[in-house]
Amino acid sequence: MFVSFVVKFFRLLSFPLVRGKNFSTFFIFGKASCTAAPYIYMNVFTNLFLQAKEFLFPGACALCGCSLIEAEEIRFSLCLNCSDGLTEALRRSDLDSKCNLCGKPMISEIETCLSCRNGEARFFERLWVLFPYIGNFRKLLTAYKFGKNLALADFFAEKITGLLKDSVCKEIPDLKNAVIVPVPPRPGKIKDTGWDQVERLVNRLEKIPGIPIVVRCLKRRKSKVQKKLDRQERLENLKGRIYLNKAYTPQPVYILIDDVITTGSTLEVCSAALKSAGAQKVYCICLFYD
Ligand SMILES: [Zn+2]
Ligand SMILES: [Zn+2]
Repeated sequence: MFVSFVVKFFRLLSFPLVRGKNFSTFFIFGKASCTAAPYIYMNVFTNLFLQAKEFLFPGACALCGCSLIEAEEIRFSLCLNCSDGLTEALRRSDLDSKCNLCGKPMISEIETCLSCRNGEARFFERLWVLFPYIGNFRKLLTAYKFGKNLALADFFAEKITGLLKDSVCKEIPDLKNAVIVPVPPRPGKIKDTGWDQVERLVNRLEKIPGIPIVVRCLKRRKSKVQKKLDRQERLENLKGRIYLNKAYTPQPVYILIDDVITTGSTLEVCSAALKSAGAQKVYCICLFYD
């Protein structure tokens, strides 16, 4: 109980905006700080409220619901059993056996699946995905995205950091000039809900020297709800609606982060926007493939 109290207290204090991670981003890109300021404060209050709730009420595992006791359990909002199970599932899931353009598991193909090979060219160079969007993995994202279980951002961020260090940085030689950016949320989402799940987890990634994190540089205009649209309709729906904010200097290489890939159209439109702004290469990382 005492350990739980101490961990929660320090997590409350270690809120990323307070630690200056986001502030430094906004100060670097000074022009953006003026327009983004109200959203930062709203984000601070919403997140402080959610973290205060976690602090006052003892947590339960996001998957099995058992009480969390160990500091490591509280940190990720997952009991050791569930956390170990997910890590083991990730270890077993071979990154090389998934298509590097759509993320779907392949049977006998190498690097790219047959349907991607026969389809239209994508705007990004490569995609890495971690988990299938089924069973416990789906439950995990639901608890994070809709249940606002903020501690899960640290779990996801740790897995993405591992992927970046162990695979992406080793396989891609020109990553020294890269910038990590989240896929932008729908317009008004941060204003309405006070947060965005992808931005939050990107802000929780461990800093990798030479690869800065920049949030809110990609902007998104209003479009139809994507859920029931197929890939072509989604591409049409988003065409020209995602763009790089003029306040940001375009970079040669980007690493785009998203939570779920369904048809890949959002990543494609983001990549197309970055390339039309001057990017040479865009790599993508997604937590789940649907
Ligand atoms: Zn559990
Ligand atoms: Zn594919």
